[in-house]
Amino acid sequence: MSLNDTPSGERIHIGFFGRRNAGKSSLVNAVTGQELAVVSDVKGTTTDPVYKAMELLPLGPVEIIDTPGFDDEGALGELRVKKTRQILAKTDIAVLVIDGTSPVSEWDNELVRLFRDKDIPYIVVYNKADEKVCPVSDENAIAVSAKSGQNIHELKEKIASLAKNSGNDRRIVGDLLSPDDIVILVTPIDAAAPKGRMILPQQQTLRDVLDADAAAMVTKETQLAMTLERLAAPPKMVITDSQAFGMVSKIVPESVPLTSFSILMARYKGFLDTAVEGASAISRLRDGDTVLISEGCTHHRQCGDIGSVKLPALLKKYTGRELNITLSSGRDFPEDLSPFSLVIHCGGCMLNEREMLYRRRTAELQGVPFTNYGIAIACMNGILKRSLGIFPDLADKL
Ligand code: SF4
Repeated sequence: MSLNDTPSGERIHIGFFGRRNAGKSSLVNAVTGQELAVVSDVKGTTTDPVYKAMELLPLGPVEIIDTPGFDDEGALGELRVKKTRQILAKTDIAVLVIDGTSPVSEWDNELVRLFRDKDIPYIVVYNKADEKVCPVSDENAIAVSAKSGQNIHELKEKIASLAKNSGNDRRIVGDLLSPDDIVILVTPIDAAAPKGRMILPQQQTLRDVLDADAAAMVTKETQLAMTLERLAAPPKMVITDSQAFGMVSKIVPESVPLTSFSILMARYKGFLDTAVEGASAISRLRDGDTVLISEGCTHHRQCGDIGSVKLPALLKKYTGRELNITLSSGRDFPEDLSPFSLVIHCGGCMLNEREMLYRRRTAELQGVPFTNYGIAIACMNGILKRSLGIFPDLADKL
């Protein structure tokens, strides 16, 4: 992905599912107009999911996931369903590809059950319509031919209309602003900052301020006092990186709302309440407890050593406990959270909303508190209440 591309977390994730040889990979290629998937007549060519970020008209930025055959003989039933569930955890729209020349199988029905279970909008595609005319009565289904291109355009339109209904209209901060407000963004530039650019949550917040027709001033924490002094009137709010919160909170007058990028991102991803509640579990940790620190990507290029070094050190110092720390990253998020007393997740900027929701629900269902980096750091620095001041209902609960 180039730096100007839409981040993965903002793309609609479209998963193509079905039996081996239903023509799934050919259909993916026909829909995307690219040789994305390996196509062969040998059953089960796709053994691992293939991901591809792209622009797909009329939808816009999407991430296409071509999945392995659901009836793969190599994978035992339970493992196959487990793998499929993992992919479904991030799937916004599911496309079930059925070989229209064969009867609908039990595998196909099982996939539909999984989609419904997970509340995922789906469309059933009867492929190979060039070989056999397949009458379709259900408006959630369509007959197409990946080979001849028949109805591929109509299929894309159907996927687009499902996407429209499944969209997230949450804002990062724009809904809290009025046109002509001034917002100050504080972005420390230290050794951990990526060279020559700003990190994704900062970029996204800045963009949302501009979308609200408000004005943004961006400064390092060292120039914050000077910036505030030179403004003719106090800003509408100050948004800071969590790591600079201690210093920034001393500079910003109590009368000016102060929050952090992490808090805004947790709200944007739909789990601010859970994360605030989860942070309260930090003070209940005991010797021997295990904390899962989970990152949404493996390259850590936005987050440096926060999860692997800074957060474990802060947790041990704050609690005074002998804690065990387990790290997970990328697509690996443990399904069994019973060994853990707390999950602290990164901001999840590379994960889509559905996947963050899945991770949070997995923790909730197993009764394991779930919070995120920024909120945990704010809590341990004693500044969580102040940083939640723009959400009085939540701040009052602390
Ligand atoms: S570790 Fe998390 S917050 Fe950091 S860049 Fe990766 S997905 Fe984004």
